[in-house]
Formats: sequence, structure tokens, C-alpha cells
Amino acid sequence: MNAEIIAVGSELLLGQIVNTNARFLSEQLAGLGINVFFHTVVGDNPERLEAAIGTAEKRSELIIFTGGLGPTKDDLTKETIAKHISKKLVMDKQALDSIELYFKRTNRVMTENNRKQALVLEGSHVLPNDHGMAPGMMIEASGHIYMLLPGPPKEMEPMFLNYGCQALSGINGSNEQIFSRVLRYFGIGEAALETEILDLIDNQSNPTIAPLAGDGEVTLRITAKHANNAIASSMLDEVEKVINNRVGEYFYGYDQTSLLAELTKYLKDNKLTISAAESLTGGMFQQELTSIPGASSVIKGGVVCYATEIKQQILQVKQATIENHGVVSEQCALELAENVARLFSTDIGISYTGVAGPEELEGKPVGTVFIGIAVKGRPTIVEKLNLGGSREANRVRSIKYGCYYLLRY
Ligand code: ATP
Ligand code: MG
Repeated sequence: MNAEIIAVGSELLLGQIVNTNARFLSEQLAGLGINVFFHTVVGDNPERLEAAIGTAEKRSELIIFTGGLGPTKDDLTKETIAKHISKKLVMDKQALDSIELYFKRTNRVMTENNRKQALVLEGSHVLPNDHGMAPGMMIEASGHIYMLLPGPPKEMEPMFLNYGCQALSGINGSNEQIFSRVLRYFGIGEAALETEILDLIDNQSNPTIAPLAGDGEVTLRITAKHANNAIASSMLDEVEKVINNRVGEYFYGYDQTSLLAELTKYLKDNKLTISAAESLTGGMFQQELTSIPGASSVIKGGVVCYATEIKQQILQVKQATIENHGVVSEQCALELAENVARLFSTDIGISYTGVAGPEELEGKPVGTVFIGIAVKGRPTIVEKLNLGGSREANRVRSIKYGCYYLLRY
């Protein structure tokens, strides 16, 4: 089956937002074995949207729309499609109930145009919106499948994952369903990981294996097709085992997890507390960790020790360390990690010191990073990285490496 994604929204054409919906859906569809041949972006204009639909119908069997399902005047996607495929819009009782409930719960007055969000194409398969008001829908008409999804990614992505995938798996006439699982890796590059499992990728057709890289991480989506849920699941287990026999040392988790979420879980399960001394990362580690639910029982706090005198006065880094080794050094990272753990009375202290760029520091090149990990009752370790990316990338990656080293220590 060939697919086309039509993102509707004038903000996209004006360059005000990036079309992340197309990226997300393309990745998902690739994992499902559906070829995406075209991405189209069109403004909130019914004539041009209709023209885009006409073009898409000539070349694609599955057409997925995002955006324009909301309550306002410029939200015209379903109205335009209804007209195009000659279907009526009808009120979906369940969607209306959940919109009314939402307004009641938030103590707000529901305006008339909000009812419009509960209108769906007659005869369509409704996709519930667990994170917003406008439901999505899927409908088959004159040899094409149309799927309508909301614009906001935080509504669209879970809707597609929880309902859209299943709806698509039922359309090709067979009773096979599609089950997939994401395996997450860190500490190995995409090319290196792919090389390790290239023969598996090439020779597997069910389950399929699809690699994807980004933000210093590599993920593999494994997808099995089968009519029986339990069999599909054991097919996934089997291929996962084969893959991780080769690259398991870099594996850290499944699906939507992150290194920070895994670290939080580990610390919580083991009743451990952590504090951070952050020079390079300027508080980013603490900000990211505290954004994870449940962080309060694991992170006590930390120090943003950007200036040398703060490293010395608050965190007692020795004068000799600074004179002999500099602030970007193994010795400095070690003292920062141990001293912050002592200062905050935590089981673990983590420290980040390095050269984010764009200029070198102390004669050390951009991307030189030292991460100190002090764990109560064990020798403190310091890991050195040579990243050499942009300032932002160096900081983001360093945080991930810190979590990764800690989980492995
Ligand atoms: P709403 O109920 O919020 O109006 P909607 O389904 O009508 O939702 P739009 O009005 O088209 O969707 O877009 C709402 C917001 O969703 C946009 O302002 C933007 O932040 C985000 N959005 C829309 N389309 C995309 C896209 N293709 N990629 C990323 N974000 C998008
Ligand atoms: Mg809208």
C-alpha cells in the first residue's frame, strides 16, 4: 500500500512551525511496512486542500491528514473531505459526551463551535482523542482510505499509536494485525549498530527491523504481523533476543522510555538519592530529571557551578587541582562529584565539566567532557568524552552519557 501525508495548516507554510507530524507518521508507517511516497503541505484553504486531495488520490491509496479538526473557522479539513467524497458529517455521541465532560471538569463554558469537533464523517471508524477534544477518523471510499488526525502532536501521536495503527492493520482484508516494539540503544552509533545486524535486517520480513537514529541514540522498531496476539508477541521476543545477543550491551529500554526515565526508575527501585554539580550543563541535568514524574524521591538538588570560584568556594575543589589540571579535568570532575554528594547528603553525586564550545578552553578542544560519578561505598569513576558537536548537542549528549554510565556502574 502506498501512502501520502497531507499536513494542513497555514502556519506550516509560513514557516512558523515545523512539520513534525509528517516525520512521526512516516517513521511509524515505515515500521508498519507501508510505503510513504509523498508529503504534502497545504494551507487552511478549502479549494487548495481539495486540489491536494485530488492529486493525492491519483498516486496514493492511503491518504493521512493532520490538522484542521479543531473548533475554529479555519479548521476545515473534515468539511472539505466530506464534500469531496460526498459523505455527511454526523454528530458522534461518544465524542460529544467526552467534550461536554471536559468542559464540566475544567469548569468552563462550552461554546457552540466546540460541538463541531464531535462531528465525524458518516460511516467512519472513529479514533478517540485521549489528550484533546477532536476525535480522529478513518474511512474507505472509492478505492481510497482516508485517515484524519488532529494537528497538535501531543494529541496526534498517541491517537495514531493507540488507535490508528490497529485501524490500519485491519484494512488489507486479512485478519492479520500489526504489533510493534521499539528497542532503544545508547553508546553506539547508527552505522555501527546497523553493521552488527545488517544480515538480520536484510533477511527478515516478518518481523521487520527498522533502524532510526537521533539525538545520539539509535532505535530499532521491530514489527510482526500475525492474526494471533500471543504468537506475534513471541515472534518479537525471538527477534529481540537474536538482536540483543549481538548489541545487548547498548540496549537500555523499550518504546517511549528515555535514559533519564530509566535512571529515575533505577534510583527509585533501589531507594537511592542523587545530587549534581553542573558546570558544562548549567543545571540542565537537574531540569531534565525533575521533569520526570517521581523525581522528587530521587533528586535532592545540586549546584550550577559555572564559575571557577563557585567550584572552589561552594564545592571545595582544591586550588592545586585548578592550577595543575584546570577545571576541565578528570581530577576536577572527581572532586565535584564527591563533594556535591557530601554537601547534599546523597548516595550518588554526578558532575559535568567540559568544553561545550564554540571556543576551546584551557587548550582543550570543543567537546572534551568529564563526567564524575561518586557512589557511596564505591570508588569514584570519571568518564572522558570527545564529542565535538555543537554547543547544544554536546550538552544534551553529555547528560545522556551521564545517565548511561551511572546505569552501568
Ligand atoms: P486544534 O484543536 O488545536 O485547533 P487542529 O486539529 O485544528 O487542532 P491545527 O489547528 O491545524 O490542528 O493545528 C493546531 C496546532 O497543532 C498548531 O498550531 C501546531 O502547534 C500543531 N500542528 C499542526 N500541524 C502540525 C504539523 N504538521 N506538525 C507539527 N505540529 C503541528
Ligand atoms: Mg485548529
